[in-house]
Amino acid sequence: MKLRHAPYTLELRHAFGIASNTRTSTPATLVEFEHDGVTGYGEAAMPPYLGESQATAAAFLTRADALLASVRDPFQLEEILPAIDALAPSNTAAKAAVDIALHDWIGKKLGAPWHRIWGLDAAKAPVTSFTIGIDTPEIVRQKTRDASIYKIIKVKLGRDDATDRAMIDAIRAETDTPITVDANQGWRERGAALAMIEWLAARNVLFIEQPMPKEQLDDTAWLRDRSPLPLIADENVQRLADVKKVSGAFHGVNIKLMKCTGLREAHKMIVLARALGLKVMLGCMTETSCAISAAAQLSPLVDWADLDGAVLLKNDCFRGTTIVDGKLTLTNLPGIGVEKIG
Ligand code: MG
Repeated sequence: MKLRHAPYTLELRHAFGIASNTRTSTPATLVEFEHDGVTGYGEAAMPPYLGESQATAAAFLTRADALLASVRDPFQLEEILPAIDALAPSNTAAKAAVDIALHDWIGKKLGAPWHRIWGLDAAKAPVTSFTIGIDTPEIVRQKTRDASIYKIIKVKLGRDDATDRAMIDAIRAETDTPITVDANQGWRERGAALAMIEWLAARNVLFIEQPMPKEQLDDTAWLRDRSPLPLIADENVQRLADVKKVSGAFHGVNIKLMKCTGLREAHKMIVLARALGLKVMLGCMTETSCAISAAAQLSPLVDWADLDGAVLLKNDCFRGTTIVDGKLTLTNLPGIGVEKIG
C-alpha cells in the first residue's frame, strides 16, 4: 500500500481577483494511492490564504503514507479517515487529497462511479456557475461574452461599493443570465450590505455568498432576517460541526472538498444541512478535473454547483467531468470518474 505525492502548480488562464487579492497560479499537490494493482487519484488545491502549501502537504502526506501502511482494508473509510484527520488539526486540503484518492481506489475496485454507489442519478447533476473575478468593466464584459454557455454567472464583489455596482452593470450590459454574488466577507456594515442586496435583488441575482466577515455572525443573522435574497455561508463553514453553527445566520452553506477534508465529510455535511432545512451549494478552489470530478459525484444532491475550477486552468492534467451547455456532465468511469492525461 503506497501513497505517492508530488507538487503541481495550477496555471490560470487569466489573473483572478477576489475581495482580498489577485493571483495567476495556485499551488497544488497530486496524490496517487496504489494497492493491489489499482491506483486511485487525489488532489490538494491550496490557495495561499487558506494557510496550506506544497511543503505542508508533503509533510502531512508523508505521515499519512506511514499510517496507511498499517491499514489492512482500504475500504474501511470510517476507520481510516478519522485516523488521517487526527494526524494534525488543519491540513484540510491534504486530507482531502487522501480522501479523494481512497474513494477513487474503492470505486475502481467496485467497478462503479461514486454517484452510483451513493444511489444518485447523474442526469440530475446541476448546471454550474462560471466565476468572474474582480476586474475592469471592459474585461468583465469580455469575460461575460466568453461565458455565454453558462446558465449562471457567479461574480466576485466586496472590494468597494462603486466597483461592485460597476461589475454588475458591466455584466448586465451583456446578458440577463442569472447571477450569483460572492462578497467574500467584503461588506462590513450591515445597513450598507442590506442596501446593496436590495439593489442586487432587482438585477436577477439568485443569492449572496458570505456577505460579511465571518466574525460578524450576529450582523449576518440580522441581515438574513431582512435580506430579499438567500445568504449562503462560505468562509463561515468549513467542516461538519460548522453547519449547525451557521444555521441561524444563513439560508444555506457552500461545501468545498478542500475545506472539509473530502468526499466522506462533504456527504455528511449535505445530509446535516438538509436536516436543518438549509440550501446546499457545492464549490471549489482552482482545481484540476481530479478534484472537480470528485465533487461532481455529489452534485446531484445539491441546489447549486460552482465547479468551474478546472475550466480556469491552462494545465489541467486530468479528463473527467465536463461542462456541456453549462451543465455538469459526469463520466461513467469508476471511482471519481477521471483519467490522467499528462
Ligand atoms: Mg466563496
